[in-house]
This record gives sequence, C-alpha cells and structure tokens, in this order.
Amino acid sequence: MNIGILALQGAFIEHRQMLEKLGIQSFEIRQKRDIERGPDALIIPGGESTVMGKLLRQLELYEPLKARIEGGMPVMGTCAGLILLAKKLSNDSSVYFGTMDMTVRRNAYGRQLGSFYTEDEFKGIGKIPMTFIRAPYIEEVYGDAEALAVTGGHIVAARQGNQLVTAFHPELNGDTSVHRYFADMIEESLASGK
Ligand code: GLN
Repeated sequence: MNIGILALQGAFIEHRQMLEKLGIQSFEIRQKRDIERGPDALIIPGGESTVMGKLLRQLELYEPLKARIEGGMPVMGTCAGLILLAKKLSNDSSVYFGTMDMTVRRNAYGRQLGSFYTEDEFKGIGKIPMTFIRAPYIEEVYGDAEALAVTGGHIVAARQGNQLVTAFHPELNGDTSVHRYFADMIEESLASGK
C-alpha cells in the first residue's frame, strides 16, 4: 500500500509520520506527475482550504484528483481537507472537489474558540483524542454519508464509501487509530479490486 499525501501546504508531514509509525509507505503529491505514480489512496491534510483550492487549480491537480476520487480511490480529508470534499459550505459559496454528501461550516467555532482539545467516541474505534484548529464542523450529512463522530452536538467525522473526513487533526496526537481505520478502508478497497 502506498498513500499519496497532498503536500501543497499545511500539515502534510505529520500525516507521513503517522503512516510511518504504522509501517505504511507514503509519498508527497506536489505536481501532476506525482499522481502518475498511482497512489492507492490520498490524504488531504489540514491547512487553508482557499489556498489549497487555488493551488490545486494552478498546478492542474484538481481534475486528475477529482477523477480518481470519483472513481473510488480512498481519500481521507482532515480539517481543510474535509472542506475540500464537501458538496456544500454553509458560509462560503466555494465548492472544491464536492464529492461528499455533507454541508460544512468553515471556521465554525469562531475566532475565540479557534483551537481546542477534547476526547470523544469515534464509531468503530472508541474514545480518541481530537485536536481542533480553526476547524469546520459538519452541519448535515445526507445521501450515502454517515456521521462517525459527534462532539459538542456537532458532527466532526463522517464516511461515505471510500471517503473519510475529520474536522479535527488525527495526525497531531500520538494516537494512530484513525490512520489505522483509513488503512483498513484501503485494504478492503484493494481486496475488492476496485
Ligand atoms: N480554517 C481552515 C480553512 O477554512 C481550516 C483549518 C485547518 O485545516 N486546520 O480552510
């Protein structure tokens, strides 16, 4: 298994370190030819969704990545990555990949409560650490999307087929369980030959 990590901006190194801990290979996607290496899956890290969205277009990564996501390549989006996958943003007219059935609020916790830490249940894993940094939350999931974690009354993780998103940063704590969960998703998808 070899996972491509979008490395235009933001917290991509931390994701690589988590995968390394699990003994999973990864490489950075910075330009079009990196996609030709044929990643088995993609991680879209946290950062600034507007900047990443712009760079994806400028570097002509947008179309090929969107096609792969729509084709079923497993993808994990954290924080800004979650924003990039949402079909709708409730407080912003932008739509980026728009592949997941959910409405997302950017910078949802306001400026004062920009960053915080909590621990809560993640369906299929149990209680895990959750670090939020100027995070979005999911206002609504519909269609095939399913909520996997709710904290403070808001949905903060969801899954739709091969797409997994978290509003928090699972790469910033020592806990590798969300990455392990994603690796299991990838294994299942590889085994089913999709
Ligand atoms: N506030 C950022 C955005 O709107 C997301 C923050 C993050 O990824 N840590 O894109």
